[in-house]
Amino acid sequence: MNGAPDATTDVRDVVIVGSGVAGLSAAVYAARADLEPLVLEGPEPGGQLTLTTDIENYLGFPEGIGGMELIQNGKEQATAFGAEFTHSTVEDVSFESRPYKLELSDGDVLRTRALIVASGASARWVGAESEDELMGYGLSTCATCDGAFHRGDDVLVIGGGDSAMEEALFLAKFADSVTIVHRREELRASEIMADRARDHEDIEFRWNTELEAIHGSQEAGVTGATLVSHPDGYPGEKAAIGVDVDRETVDVGGVFYGIGHTPNTEFLRGTPIELDDDGYVQTTDTDAWATTATAVDGVFAAGDVMDPNYQQAVTAAGMGSMATLDAETWLETGAPASAETPDSSIAEADD
Ligand code: NAP
Repeated sequence: MNGAPDATTDVRDVVIVGSGVAGLSAAVYAARADLEPLVLEGPEPGGQLTLTTDIENYLGFPEGIGGMELIQNGKEQATAFGAEFTHSTVEDVSFESRPYKLELSDGDVLRTRALIVASGASARWVGAESEDELMGYGLSTCATCDGAFHRGDDVLVIGGGDSAMEEALFLAKFADSVTIVHRREELRASEIMADRARDHEDIEFRWNTELEAIHGSQEAGVTGATLVSHPDGYPGEKAAIGVDVDRETVDVGGVFYGIGHTPNTEFLRGTPIELDDDGYVQTTDTDAWATTATAVDGVFAAGDVMDPNYQQAVTAAGMGSMATLDAETWLETGAPASAETPDSSIAEADD
């Protein structure tokens, strides 16, 4: 690649990839620091919170706040301080020379001195009938966000990993009964999480079973679900090729997907940014000068894209602010002497 930027290319101090709560919080901080951030909103503007109806555990809203409203407020707040937003998605990124180069889905090419990756993680969806219509209306991918709305309900949790166990254990505090629906007979979850779920008196398992359809409406919420089962497991696949499966409709007031998340890091594959085995961005350890720093100088990561553990709105917002504070320090001083600079050979391109 030719390191010299096109003279017409827009050079930014900070570009933020993602407009969920981490990206918006980063944008508020960056705009208030006069860094004139550009936020690339990505394919799911507003991120996962836009799929949540009410948020009751975000500090400062004693009556709760709608997910969409929180995101809209955040965007308004960032815009008021001077952040710019564009609907684009990053198609390609190059860290071979500075300022770093981003090729966007609308054909634009940008250069930026610092980059904040806040592209989030998308909850995987099962593909059941009516899930598009009912997501946020009794169907949820986040028990911590929506569990408290299901006091006294019978609910289903789909999945057999740690996420599903965790969702089920959390939901059991509110729901009358929780049924974990898993497509085979063995759990993928760690023993400790599996044991906790197995030992809980309000949690049951439906083995070799999958969710085929969800019933209800946006007005009434979820009212039921159709489950398919086959003694050899993976009934959905079997039904698709014409094998006979058992089909049953159950009355439930909520369905929770716990089949994992996929971090949105495809655009970083093949770059020096380190990803873990599941694709999450690896940030430096807490002994380093900046906890949101990645393996590339001047590139920081915040929120669900680098955090497989907490995945809360409030933690993502906190990390967004940390990423901007780290980026600001880096822009002002360069990486402090104690920083790990694995790519310090990167060439400086003339602006
Ligand atoms: P995961 O380990 O990949 O488990 C996903 C589960 O969903 C699997 O049981 C899988 O079934 C099932 N599944 C996947 N696609 C499905 C589909 N289309 N329909 C029905 N079922 C489907 O994901 P995770 O549970 O989110 O965990 C991800 C990582 O985070 C793991 O390393 C986990 O240990 C960690 N984590 C830890 C905690 C904790 O310790 N508190 C909490 C959450 C996550 P199969 O088993 O048949 O493939």
